[in-house]
Amino acid sequence: MTVSKQIIGNVELVTQNDTHFGAEFIVSSLDDISALPSQLKADYLHAYDAIKTVCDPEIPVLTIMDLGVFRSLSISPEAGVVVTITPTYSGCPAMSMIAFDVEVALGKAGFEAVNVNLSLSPAWTTDWMSDIGKEKLTDYGIASPIGKSSELKTGRAALFGITHVECPRCKSKNTEKLAEFGSTACKAQYRCKDCLEPFDYFKCI
Ligand SMILES: [Zn+2]
Repeated sequence: MTVSKQIIGNVELVTQNDTHFGAEFIVSSLDDISALPSQLKADYLHAYDAIKTVCDPEIPVLTIMDLGVFRSLSISPEAGVVVTITPTYSGCPAMSMIAFDVEVALGKAGFEAVNVNLSLSPAWTTDWMSDIGKEKLTDYGIASPIGKSSELKTGRAALFGITHVECPRCKSKNTEKLAEFGSTACKAQYRCKDCLEPFDYFKCI
Protein backbone atom coordinates (compact mmCIF):
# COMPACT_ATOMS: atom_id res chain seq x y z
CA MET A 1 0.00 0.00 0.00
CA THR A 2 1.49 3.26 -1.08
CA VAL A 3 0.18 6.53 0.18
CA SER A 4 1.47 9.64 -1.46
CA LYS A 5 0.64 13.27 -1.14
CA GLN A 6 0.62 15.78 -3.90
CA ILE A 7 0.00 19.50 -3.80
CA ILE A 8 -2.29 20.77 -6.52
CA GLY A 9 -3.07 24.45 -6.18
CA ASN A 10 -4.11 24.95 -2.56
CA VAL A 11 -5.15 21.35 -2.08
CA GLU A 12 -3.04 18.54 -0.73
CA LEU A 13 -4.30 15.47 -2.51
CA VAL A 14 -3.84 12.07 -0.86
CA THR A 15 -3.33 9.16 -3.22
CA GLN A 16 -3.39 5.51 -2.17
CA ASN A 17 -2.41 2.77 -4.65
CA ASP A 18 -2.80 5.28 -7.44
CA THR A 19 -6.38 6.03 -6.42
CA HIS A 20 -7.28 9.47 -5.23
CA PHE A 21 -9.08 8.90 -2.00
CA GLY A 22 -9.23 12.22 -0.32
CA ALA A 23 -8.01 15.70 -0.03
CA GLU A 24 -6.59 16.40 3.36
CA PHE A 25 -5.93 20.01 2.91
CA ILE A 26 -8.47 22.47 4.09
CA VAL A 27 -10.46 24.01 1.31
CA SER A 28 -12.19 27.27 2.06
CA SER A 29 -13.08 28.45 -1.38
CA LEU A 30 -14.37 26.69 -4.44
CA ASP A 31 -11.44 28.14 -6.39
CA ASP A 32 -9.27 25.69 -4.47
CA ILE A 33 -11.00 22.60 -5.82
CA SER A 34 -10.63 23.16 -9.54
CA ALA A 35 -7.63 20.84 -9.74
CA LEU A 36 -9.26 17.91 -7.91
CA PRO A 37 -10.25 14.67 -9.65
CA SER A 38 -13.88 14.77 -10.77
CA GLN A 39 -15.41 12.49 -8.09
CA LEU A 40 -13.76 14.37 -5.26
CA LYS A 41 -14.68 17.68 -6.83
CA ALA A 42 -18.30 16.48 -7.01
CA ASP A 43 -18.18 15.56 -3.30
CA TYR A 44 -16.87 19.01 -2.39
CA LEU A 45 -19.51 20.77 -4.47
CA HIS A 46 -22.24 18.57 -2.98
CA ALA A 47 -21.07 19.25 0.58
CA TYR A 48 -20.61 22.96 -0.13
CA ASP A 49 -24.15 23.23 -1.52
CA ALA A 50 -25.51 21.53 1.62
CA ILE A 51 -23.58 23.87 3.95
CA LYS A 52 -24.77 26.87 1.93
CA THR A 53 -28.36 26.16 3.02
CA VAL A 54 -27.53 26.76 6.70
CA CYS A 55 -28.66 30.15 7.96
CA ASP A 56 -27.95 32.19 11.05
CA PRO A 57 -30.73 31.46 13.57
CA GLU A 58 -30.82 35.09 14.69
CA ILE A 59 -30.79 36.58 11.19
CA PRO A 60 -32.44 33.89 9.06
CA VAL A 61 -31.89 35.76 5.77
CA LEU A 62 -28.12 35.33 6.13
CA THR A 63 -26.39 32.05 5.34
CA ILE A 64 -23.23 31.12 7.22
CA MET A 65 -21.39 31.83 3.94
CA ASP A 66 -22.84 35.38 3.85
CA LEU A 67 -21.68 35.94 7.44
CA GLY A 68 -18.22 34.48 6.88
CA VAL A 69 -18.90 32.09 9.77
CA PHE A 70 -18.11 29.16 7.46
CA ARG A 71 -14.31 28.91 7.27
CA SER A 72 -13.35 25.62 5.68
CA LEU A 73 -14.38 22.24 4.41
CA SER A 74 -12.18 19.16 4.32
CA ILE A 75 -13.13 15.71 3.05
CA SER A 76 -11.06 12.59 3.68
CA PRO A 77 -11.82 8.90 4.29
CA GLU A 78 -10.35 8.90 7.81
CA ALA A 79 -11.98 12.06 9.13
CA GLY A 80 -15.05 12.18 6.89
CA VAL A 81 -16.36 15.65 6.29
CA VAL A 82 -14.85 18.26 8.57
CA VAL A 83 -16.38 21.72 8.59
CA THR A 84 -14.79 24.57 10.50
CA ILE A 85 -16.87 27.52 11.62
CA THR A 86 -15.92 30.62 13.61
CA PRO A 87 -18.49 32.13 16.01
CA THR A 88 -19.41 35.75 15.39
CA TYR A 89 -18.23 36.44 18.92
CA SER A 90 -17.13 34.13 21.69
CA GLY A 91 -20.03 32.61 23.54
CA CYS A 92 -22.49 33.35 20.73
CA PRO A 93 -25.39 31.05 21.64
CA ALA A 94 -26.41 30.66 17.99
CA MET A 95 -23.23 28.74 17.27
CA SER A 96 -24.25 25.36 18.71
CA MET A 97 -27.43 25.58 16.67
CA ILE A 98 -25.42 26.39 13.54
CA ALA A 99 -23.10 23.42 14.18
CA PHE A 100 -26.13 21.17 14.57
CA ASP A 101 -27.77 22.54 11.40
CA VAL A 102 -24.55 21.91 9.43
CA GLU A 103 -24.51 18.28 10.60
CA VAL A 104 -28.18 17.84 9.67
CA ALA A 105 -27.73 19.46 6.23
CA LEU A 106 -24.73 17.26 5.41
CA GLY A 107 -26.55 14.19 6.77
CA LYS A 108 -29.48 14.89 4.47
CA ALA A 109 -27.03 15.26 1.58
CA GLY A 110 -25.80 11.73 2.27
CA PHE A 111 -22.60 12.37 4.21
CA GLU A 112 -22.35 10.01 7.16
CA ALA A 113 -19.23 11.01 9.05
CA VAL A 114 -19.49 14.71 9.77
CA ASN A 115 -17.54 16.78 12.26
CA VAL A 116 -18.01 20.46 12.92
CA ASN A 117 -15.10 22.27 14.54
CA LEU A 118 -15.25 25.65 16.18
CA SER A 119 -12.27 27.84 15.49
CA LEU A 120 -11.88 30.83 17.78
CA SER A 121 -8.60 32.15 16.44
CA PRO A 122 -8.37 34.28 14.42
CA ALA A 123 -11.50 35.87 15.81
CA TRP A 124 -14.43 36.49 13.51
CA THR A 125 -14.67 39.98 12.10
CA THR A 126 -17.40 41.77 10.17
CA ASP A 127 -14.76 42.10 7.41
CA TRP A 128 -15.54 38.45 6.58
CA MET A 129 -19.16 39.27 5.83
CA SER A 130 -19.80 39.18 2.08
CA ASP A 131 -21.14 42.22 0.21
CA ILE A 132 -24.26 40.23 -0.63
CA GLY A 133 -24.59 39.44 3.08
CA LYS A 134 -24.41 43.14 3.97
CA GLU A 135 -27.10 43.97 1.40
CA LYS A 136 -29.37 41.22 2.72
CA LEU A 137 -28.84 42.51 6.26
CA THR A 138 -29.90 46.06 5.33
CA ASP A 139 -32.95 44.77 3.42
CA TYR A 140 -33.84 42.81 6.57
CA GLY A 141 -33.91 46.10 8.53
CA ILE A 142 -30.55 45.90 10.30
CA ALA A 143 -27.92 48.51 9.43
CA SER A 144 -24.77 46.81 8.10
CA PRO A 145 -21.35 47.30 9.66
CA ILE A 146 -19.67 50.43 8.33
CA GLY A 147 -16.07 50.34 7.25
CA LYS A 148 -13.46 47.68 7.83
CA SER A 149 -12.59 46.40 11.26
CA SER A 150 -8.93 46.29 10.23
CA GLU A 151 -9.11 50.02 9.38
CA LEU A 152 -10.85 50.85 12.66
CA LYS A 153 -7.95 49.29 14.50
CA THR A 154 -5.43 51.38 12.65
CA GLY A 155 -7.52 54.52 13.08
CA ARG A 156 -8.08 54.94 9.36
CA ALA A 157 -11.89 54.82 9.68
CA ALA A 158 -11.84 57.91 11.90
CA LEU A 159 -9.83 59.64 9.22
CA PHE A 160 -12.67 59.11 6.76
CA GLY A 161 -15.24 60.32 9.28
CA ILE A 162 -17.23 57.11 9.38
CA THR A 163 -19.57 57.82 12.26
CA HIS A 164 -23.06 58.05 10.84
CA VAL A 165 -25.12 54.92 10.73
CA GLU A 166 -27.66 54.97 7.92
CA CYS A 167 -31.30 54.14 8.64
CA PRO A 168 -32.01 50.83 6.82
CA ARG A 169 -35.56 51.99 6.04
CA CYS A 170 -35.39 55.59 4.80
CA LYS A 171 -31.58 55.77 4.27
CA SER A 172 -31.35 58.93 6.41
CA LYS A 173 -28.05 59.51 8.19
CA ASN A 174 -29.82 61.56 10.83
CA THR A 175 -29.73 58.76 13.40
CA GLU A 176 -28.81 58.40 17.05
CA LYS A 177 -27.51 55.57 19.19
CA LEU A 178 -29.90 54.57 21.98
CA ALA A 179 -27.92 51.71 23.49
CA GLU A 180 -24.59 50.00 22.94
CA PHE A 181 -26.31 46.60 22.90
CA GLY A 182 -29.37 45.72 20.85
CA SER A 183 -31.16 42.38 20.58
CA THR A 184 -27.75 40.67 20.82
CA ALA A 185 -24.29 41.82 21.88
CA CYS A 186 -23.28 41.99 18.17
CA LYS A 187 -25.69 44.85 17.65
CA ALA A 188 -26.23 48.37 18.92
CA GLN A 189 -29.65 49.96 19.15
CA TYR A 190 -30.28 53.05 17.04
CA ARG A 191 -33.18 55.29 16.15
CA CYS A 192 -33.79 57.26 13.00
CA LYS A 193 -34.59 60.91 13.75
CA ASP A 194 -36.37 61.31 10.41
CA CYS A 195 -38.69 58.30 10.15
CA LEU A 196 -38.50 57.77 13.95
CA GLU A 197 -38.07 54.01 13.56
CA PRO A 198 -35.76 52.19 15.96
CA PHE A 199 -33.34 49.73 14.34
CA ASP A 200 -30.35 47.57 15.09
CA TYR A 201 -26.86 48.35 13.82
CA PHE A 202 -24.60 45.36 13.31
CA LYS A 203 -21.41 46.65 14.86
CA CYS A 204 -18.13 46.61 13.01
CA ILE A 205 -15.97 44.21 14.99
ZN1 LIG B 1 -35.34 56.33 8.84
